[in-house]
Amino acid sequence: MEDEYYYDVVVVGGGNAGLCAAQAALDLGASVAVLEKAPRDERGGNSALTGHMRFPYENVDELAVLIDDPNPDDLAVIHDRLPRRGKEDLWDEVIRTTAGKADKDLLTTHVENAYPTIKWLRGKGHAWVPNIAATAGNTTQMAGRGYRLQERHFGNVEKSGGQIHYEASMTDIIVNRRGEVDGVRAFTPEGFTTFRAKAVILACGGFEANPEMRAKYLGAGWDTVKNRGVPYNTGDGINAALAIGAMPYGSFTSCHASPQDIDRPAYTLPSSVPNGGMRTSRYAYPYSIMVNLEGERFVDEGSDVRGRTYAKMGWSVRAQTGGVAYQLFDSKARGLGLLEDYDRNNATGVTAATLDELATKIGVPAEKLRATVTQYNAAIQPGKLDPSPFTLDGKHTSGLAIDKSNYSISIEEGPFEAYGVCCAITFTFGGLRVDAKTAQVQHTAGRPIPGLYTAGEMLGGLWHGNYPSGSGMMAGAVFGRIAGEHAARSAAAPA
Ligand SMILES: Cc1cc2nc3c(=O)[nH]c(=O)nc-3n(C[C@H](O)[C@H](O)[C@H](O)COP(=O)(O)OP(=O)(O)OC[C@H]3O[C@@H](n4cnc5c(N)ncnc54)[C@H](O)[C@@H]3O)c2cc1C
Repeated sequence: MEDEYYYDVVVVGGGNAGLCAAQAALDLGASVAVLEKAPRDERGGNSALTGHMRFPYENVDELAVLIDDPNPDDLAVIHDRLPRRGKEDLWDEVIRTTAGKADKDLLTTHVENAYPTIKWLRGKGHAWVPNIAATAGNTTQMAGRGYRLQERHFGNVEKSGGQIHYEASMTDIIVNRRGEVDGVRAFTPEGFTTFRAKAVILACGGFEANPEMRAKYLGAGWDTVKNRGVPYNTGDGINAALAIGAMPYGSFTSCHASPQDIDRPAYTLPSSVPNGGMRTSRYAYPYSIMVNLEGERFVDEGSDVRGRTYAKMGWSVRAQTGGVAYQLFDSKARGLGLLEDYDRNNATGVTAATLDELATKIGVPAEKLRATVTQYNAAIQPGKLDPSPFTLDGKHTSGLAIDKSNYSISIEEGPFEAYGVCCAITFTFGGLRVDAKTAQVQHTAGRPIPGLYTAGEMLGGLWHGNYPSGSGMMAGAVFGRIAGEHAARSAAAPA
């Protein structure tokens, strides 16, 4: 006989979405278990590797209440850069980045609940700090980044009586004769274990760590890309749910993939980032020109602010010879403080006094590189450069095969610098269809699956092709909390 446990609610996956769900269910008095595939030392999921959440705020005072001992100088910088992000701005950003494909019901829930959920998290002891970096994606980030957020989440869940089962890898969803979810099976170091539950919340991530599924859905060649995240999100929840008839939803053929250090490791473990870690994102590209191994530009690096382009920029890099590119800067980038993050995080790059020397160092034809840079410099139009991470400066080029729309800084004063980047996947967008108000998973038959909920990367329909930075963690918290509340209520309802 397999070991059996009994709970009101079983949450599969101990990331931000799962732990928000667990906390919300515990708050309503449910008995809750969290099954986590990783060992305790590597707990936290992709959520532990993150920095920020994107949410609307009416004014900087609404940010100040989230910050312990806010520094007025930092708040003044935020006020200068982005004094307000209205709900309508958040809505527009998602519509814009997803080319209008985001599910409007899901987006309404996301936008309406984002700030209230931030306040809920604040009430649970979470805090934010100002983010005033030159290449910031958001105006604030979580205190201690995602790693500490996750540590606080785990502490809160345990204090509230939740039980965490580590190295418990969910394999199947158990359904009874009436089609109601009755629990899950998990593979543990002791063998298979059954976790009976009145409601199950799947929050075990997408399929970004599964090369077979990446190739199947994203296409040829995606099996070999590097993974920015943890090696555990192998699509188990999606597969188990599809096996009981759950409705797949959203974009299975696109994903979040961004420019990363050319020498980054194949994946990232949470234990490598407890104090911020060595970050491998290379997001100063809007202020650079990016060239491929042929020495040619291949994308409008400044088509929008980096927080609205980086999640699709990995696709452009991956399409180049060898799946690599180089970000080129001249000495002005340093003067503007645009490379501080690269210095702090030991970015793989080369410096040279001349463009020809730079070309030799990165293995690009010198004549071609010189021509690309000369044409680019000549095409820059008059206008004021303002390398703000939140507003477009309109400093553009004109007449190039691929023009640059903003942040066009000439490349003429040595020393020149080039940073090598590859594409790495962050997370997948395809997932399960849910009711936007309850996060309950829908069956292909058009009815909800009794007792089954989902949140986080597994929830399909919000992101397509691209997304605004900080949205994954925010959506995970919003829908995780909703899933937890509804699962607890359904578990408490008379059978
Ligand atoms: C390097 C990096 C930086 C990022 N930065 C940001 C950011 O700053 N802001 C932002 O909004 N988003 C960011 N993201 C995206 C963000 O991480 C995700 O959108 C978010 O964490 C998803 O939360 P989740 O709870 O769904 O998944 P996760 O946090 O990945 O949690 C899923 C959990 O499920 C577990 N699991 C998997 N399979 C099973 C199974 N079969 N049984 C049991 N457990 C299982 C995993 O081990 C994992 O702990 C970043 C991602 C990466 C990789």
